[in-house]
Amino acid sequence: MLRTKNIAAVLAGLLLAALAAGCGKEGSPPVKGPRADQLPRYTVDTGFELPGSPTWRKAHRRGYLVVGAKEDQPYLGEKDPASGVYSGFDIEIARMMAASLGFEPKTIRFRTIASANRETALQNGQIDYYVGTYTINDMRKKLVGFAGPYYMAGQGLLVRTDENDIHGPQDLAGKTVCSAAGSTPYQRIAADYPKAKLVAYDTYSICVDNLLTFQVDAVTTDDAILLGFAAKAPDEMKVVGKPFSQEPYGIGVPRGDNALRLALDDALEENERNGNWKKAFEATLGLSGVPAPKPPPIDRYPAN
Ligand code: GLU
Repeated sequence: MLRTKNIAAVLAGLLLAALAAGCGKEGSPPVKGPRADQLPRYTVDTGFELPGSPTWRKAHRRGYLVVGAKEDQPYLGEKDPASGVYSGFDIEIARMMAASLGFEPKTIRFRTIASANRETALQNGQIDYYVGTYTINDMRKKLVGFAGPYYMAGQGLLVRTDENDIHGPQDLAGKTVCSAAGSTPYQRIAADYPKAKLVAYDTYSICVDNLLTFQVDAVTTDDAILLGFAAKAPDEMKVVGKPFSQEPYGIGVPRGDNALRLALDDALEENERNGNWKKAFEATLGLSGVPAPKPPPIDRYPAN
């Protein structure tokens, strides 16, 4: 009974925090979140043309870009439920890329796509590109293309603050661990830690709900994602141990559209050089306590 009440109180508190973050009105309690006035403004390259890219041509003709993203990952890709506005580091990367491709910010339409559906969304032409904690790897490169990487994350573990037994993936035997279907962290636990009881949902926020209601013992995915959840509820959750993988984040593009992929590589490099990347990082993901790292080198791999 007491436990149920505690959970109810925790969830009510989280809901209030979420509402406050959503409103962001003057006078509401201070909530750490991306502040519009601290975000860089990206110069739109109005004369830009990319006739070699079928994706760019199609977007140019229709007059807007369709960009796949996440909507429930703190400081990375979040959608304000009231206004429908997306924010976070991945969203800023998407906006700076759009500006370099000649698209005004108001001509970007974000669509939420879960981890398991990214490849099909790109293959079916539902989106022009995808920016949402998307790890570049050889298996995925057979299905889609990747610009970048633009950030290096690593797999980690999120547990409740009162958890004392879990310090790393080696402690997961017999524990219930939650991750997103179709993600690399899910696959790594399944392959390397078969004694863990692994459960999958569409999103990490569902995993976090399950952690707070004692349905699972840990949530596993990239440290960048977990630190954001922990930063929003530091009394309830903590990230433990050291990162145990390398997750280079790329911008997903339709496979074979090498013109688009290389144009995005150029755009990333330019924004890293001119300071936009660092500014965007500090105004978003930096708020979860991660200092701005040096971005990893861009990998312009040959057409495959
Ligand atoms: N970066 C990992 C992946 O691409 C985990 C995060 C996610 O699911 O978006 O699978």
